[in-house]
Amino acid sequence: MTLLLESPPQTSRPLLGQSLADLTEWVQQQGQPAYRGKQLHQWIYERGARSLADITVFPKQWRAEMATTEIGRSTIHVRSVAPDGTVKFLLRLSDGHIIEAVGIPTENRLTVCVSSQVGCPMGCDFCATGKGGFIRNLATHEIVDQVLTVQEDFQRRVSNIVFMGMGEPLLNLDHVAAAIRCLNQDIGIGQRSITVSTVGIPGRIRRFAEFDFQVTLAVSLHASNQAQRATLIPSAHHYPLDELLVECREYVEQTGRRVTFEYILLAELNDRPEHASELAAHLRGFQSHVNLIPYNPIQEVDYKRPTEQRVQAFVAGLKQRHIAVSVRYSRGLEADAACGQLRASALRPDPKATE
Ligand code: SAH
Ligand code: SF4
Repeated sequence: MTLLLESPPQTSRPLLGQSLADLTEWVQQQGQPAYRGKQLHQWIYERGARSLADITVFPKQWRAEMATTEIGRSTIHVRSVAPDGTVKFLLRLSDGHIIEAVGIPTENRLTVCVSSQVGCPMGCDFCATGKGGFIRNLATHEIVDQVLTVQEDFQRRVSNIVFMGMGEPLLNLDHVAAAIRCLNQDIGIGQRSITVSTVGIPGRIRRFAEFDFQVTLAVSLHASNQAQRATLIPSAHHYPLDELLVECREYVEQTGRRVTFEYILLAELNDRPEHASELAAHLRGFQSHVNLIPYNPIQEVDYKRPTEQRVQAFVAGLKQRHIAVSVRYSRGLEADAACGQLRASALRPDPKATE
């Protein structure tokens, strides 16, 4: 697949996303003592500095000289809250593009659903982001910023990250990998609490394995056979299910980690007993877990969410074949913040937004 990517805007490399060693090197290049690197790191990652002018421990004159240096934070364009407490943010990037990030709180966790691209080029038929087209990859700092923004808004530490917002993370692998490093080492989020979800790009799961992260890989299957998958996911025409599953098996062998398979249940389409048995046959003996996601309706297409009875019948069909399975009911439906509903429309602005 050839993709013409609009690159993230390249001014100087933003400070957000950089490691302690890089920040220390940078302050020294500016003629400052090395310990200021640690201060800068703390102010960026713990205190939410948005400009060097904010960093009151720095000498006044240097702060003034450096005031235009880009830290790399976005601004909140719209913030909307669903009745279940899920908060969706539309964030404005430095070039004006808007992306989405979602904060999903539970008693013990604060999960952030992050975007990896502005839009998505994959065009899956059931997905609002896919229907909206593609603009560009996100830079590392633009991914990390989403997590800091949610953390600051909730005034609570983020515990989990899912790359399930806008975009296909494995098409932006280098920036996604750099963001994972930063989230882990600079913000302190455990790698095991990070999930990267992909629809599958030839060779990229292999490349992802080489980073040797302890993160969870989730693969969006959504169908139990190649013909049906290709009707839902255009890129599946060029990347047959069998080849995708081979790459997944290699991933398990190479990393020793299981793969999560995501499967959106579409009523009367891929939720029949024969689909459950076909899916189970593919996954037999595979170190994996299946997440069933009852379809969240989007405007453009008329797929339907199955009844609870059909969902449970599908679960039973997998369980009786010894396949590990859970059902994931998306939260945030009312804020259009659930999976596949991330798009820049139909939002109720919230007064807490900054503009
Ligand atoms: N591009 C990646 C990650 C973003 S999509 C991927 O496709 O895996 C994240 C998850 O949301 C995927 O499992 C995707 O299939 C799911 N999703 C998309 N549209 C949906 C919808 N309308 N209802 C429920 N889940 C949806
Ligand atoms: Fe892109 Fe994932 Fe949506 Fe498909 S489901 S269009 S890969 S974001």
